[in-house]
Order: sequence, then C-alpha cells, then structure tokens
Amino acid sequence: MSEQEDFEWQITNKVQEDTNTYTYTFSTGKRSELSIGQFVTIGTYLKRPTASGEMEESFVERAYSIASSPHRNYVELTIKREKPHGYINPILKKADGFAAYFLEQAKIGDKVKVKLSSKRDHFLSKIASGAEKDIAYWSGENGAESARGLIQYMQDRPDLGIKLILFYSNPHLYLSDTEMTIDVIYYKWLIEMAKKMENLKVVFTFTKDTEVPTSDHPRVFFRRGRFFVDSSGGIEKTLAKYHETPKSTFNPICGSSGFIIGAIQGPDGKLVKGKGIMHDLMEIEGISAEKIDREQFYLDHAH
Ligand SMILES: Cc1cc2nc3c(=O)[nH]c(=O)nc-3n(C[C@H](O)[C@H](O)[C@H](O)COP(=O)(O)OP(=O)(O)OC[C@H]3O[C@@H](n4cnc5c(N)ncnc54)[C@H](O)[C@@H]3O)c2cc1C
Repeated sequence: MSEQEDFEWQITNKVQEDTNTYTYTFSTGKRSELSIGQFVTIGTYLKRPTASGEMEESFVERAYSIASSPHRNYVELTIKREKPHGYINPILKKADGFAAYFLEQAKIGDKVKVKLSSKRDHFLSKIASGAEKDIAYWSGENGAESARGLIQYMQDRPDLGIKLILFYSNPHLYLSDTEMTIDVIYYKWLIEMAKKMENLKVVFTFTKDTEVPTSDHPRVFFRRGRFFVDSSGGIEKTLAKYHETPKSTFNPICGSSGFIIGAIQGPDGKLVKGKGIMHDLMEIEGISAEKIDREQFYLDHAH
C-alpha cells in the first residue's frame, strides 16, 4: 500500500518547452527525501468553463513526474496540455482538463498542494537503489520528464557510474511545415547535455517526418519512423543497433498507453490492444520482463 504525505510548494519560475508545455520550478521548503522516477500529485483551484459558457472554480489534481535531480534544492515539473483548452466532457457537460487551465492561471508566487507518493517500487527505483546502471530509456512525445531528472542526477552523482541512452520518439521535429518552431520537449537541452556528458547518448526518432537533421556529434542520433522498424519497413533491432550491451541493459519505458503497450481506447469505450515498445523489446531484442520498467501517463484515445 502506498502512503501519501502532503506538502505545499511555491512556484518560483516558469519556462516554455514547446507550444503546449512548460517547466515549473517549485521551492519546496522542508520536504521528505525525493528519488529519481517518483511522481507527485499536485492540486490547485482552477476556473474552467461549463457547457453553458459559465466559469466554475474547483480543486483539480493531476500526477506529474519529478523532472529534476533529487540533489537540487528545488523541484521541477514539466506540464504538458493534452486536452485542448475549452474541451467540454460530453457526459459531465463541463471542462474536465487540468493542464490547459493550470498553464493559463498558475502564476509565479502561487502555491500548490502536493501529495508525494512513497511507493517503494516506483518508476526508476532500481536505478535509485543502485541495482541498475546501464540504462536505455524509451520515451514517447510526453515521457522524458524522469529522464531529465535522471540526467541531472548523473551530473550530480558522477561517482555512481550510470550510463544512459535515451530513445525519444516524436511525430515531428517542428510545429508544422510552415512554422519552424521546435515542438519536442527538452530538444536543445538534450543535445547540449549529450555533447557534454560522455555517459549520455540520445537517439531521436520522428515518426511522421520525411526529413530529419544530420547529426554533428557521435552521441546524438536522428532516425525516421517507429523504433524497431528499419528504413525499408523491415524489423530493426534498434537497441542493439545503437547500444553495445543490449542484453544487460535496463529499459524504462514512459509515455502513453499506445507507446508502451499499443493500447488505445476506441470511440465506443472499448480498449483496442496492439503492440508497443514493451513487446518489441521482448520479442525483437529478447529482453526479459525484469529488465523492463514502465510509467504510463495516460490512456490514448482514438479521436
Ligand atoms: C504517474 C504519472 C506521471 C505523469 N507525469 C507527467 C509529466 O511529468 N508531465 C506531463 O505533462 N504529464 C504527466 N502525466 C499526465 C498528467 O497527469 C496529465 O494527464 C497531462 O498533463 C494532461 O493533462 P490534461 O489536463 O491536458 O488532460 P487530462 O484531463 O489529464 O486527460 C488526459 C487524457 O486526455 C485525452 N485527450 C487528449 N486529447 C484529447 C482531445 N482532443 N479530446 C479529448 N480528450 C483528449 C488523452 O487521451 C488522455 O487520456 C503523468 C501521469 C501519471 C499517471
């Protein structure tokens, strides 16, 4: 059973990551020990529209993975809006999203309620305990938050000898063909860190782009299409292709249900099962279940 401790954290900074995503810095005051891969549940009062166009204020909560190293005296959370601003839940007849309203209404200086889950076997707990040090982290387009925390942790604790290869999948590099704004969370920071840290490699894949950048560094890679599918549509051992020790590597996977296990909820509410990174790692690379860890952010819906 997981116990929860309650805190109040204050927003001290806000930085835009991409069109729908911001990273918030919080001063936490006295707090219990944090660990890489843990998540917190933050809650605050938000004004959201009803179907009749009125605004209603209520307390709303969501889970967010800690995106900073536990050795820093602040905590960072990256919050991405998935549901559009103004989306009205057809059954509730009112908005039921969190992120769109938090990004709009939460200001520097505001305080949020925080519940810290103290589950012992949380995401990345095997890395936090020192049991796993050779890591291949698989991230969907929203899923690299714990990897950011891990990279900062590797900077703060070089003595631990952790090495990381981040496989990061996004549909596109840019917002659109006409708007050349980068639409990948942490993109520039990740490239900068891979160039600086000998124990970090980053493999970006863009599943819907026809052209990808050319790398100017041996620890930064760009590819096209889904992981585990090669350029001619055949099977690719992606882990073995980019990493020397695939069999002994520990594989945290983070993102939506579609990314991790290929599951998507259809318009009729039924779950359509498919295959995700987890199956590919097991079936194509021969990775065993104990070398896989996962954190699901939300259930994908067919729109
Ligand atoms: C353990 C854990 C850790 C998490 N860590 C993070 C994190 O670090 N950063 C982060 O950004 N998120 C994280 N999340 C997800 C987060 O809690 C929110 O779900 C996310 O920020 C989206 O919030 P939202 O208010 O936009 O949507 P929510 O109200 O939370 O709903 C998300 C759902 O909306 C659906 N959706 C998407 N588009 C539409 C649409 N057009 N119409 C209707 N429904 C739609 C999605 O399929 C998804 O199921 C985490 C979740 C968990 C469980």
